[in-house]
Amino acid sequence: MKKSESVFSQIIKKKVKAEIIYTDRQVVAFKDINPQAPVHVLIVPRKSIPSLSAASEKDALLLGRMLLVAKKIAQQMKVDQDGFRLVLNQGKFGGQTVYHLHFHLLGGRRMMWPPG
Ligand code: 5GP
Repeated sequence: MKKSESVFSQIIKKKVKAEIIYTDRQVVAFKDINPQAPVHVLIVPRKSIPSLSAASEKDALLLGRMLLVAKKIAQQMKVDQDGFRLVLNQGKFGGQTVYHLHFHLLGGRRMMWPPG
């Protein structure tokens, strides 16, 4: 295993187990191991981009695709009618802990604003 390989890369390569709920050629989604809501799904590109800061113009279509996948998963998890929250944590102050770009899709309860 490469030293820099994130746990999400390992999940994508099936070296680490996760409850995968969606895959396509570019994107994988699986349940968060430590859910913060009844529905908590991580939406991850197969391409290993460490964070939003590391994304470039070349990734524009991929980033857009991730949003459309989020919409599809919200429907699949039946949170699209009541609503849901999509979160991207960037860097230390953003609370990012895994350096493989991802969205959190949270739903199944009312979300608070502002977030902590
Ligand atoms: P971040 O803090 O980087 O925005 O989010 C990382 C998320 O990944 C956290 O919510 C954490 O619970 C989740 N996570 C960390 N390791 C694993 C793992 O091995 N499997 C799964 N399914 N989720 C993980």
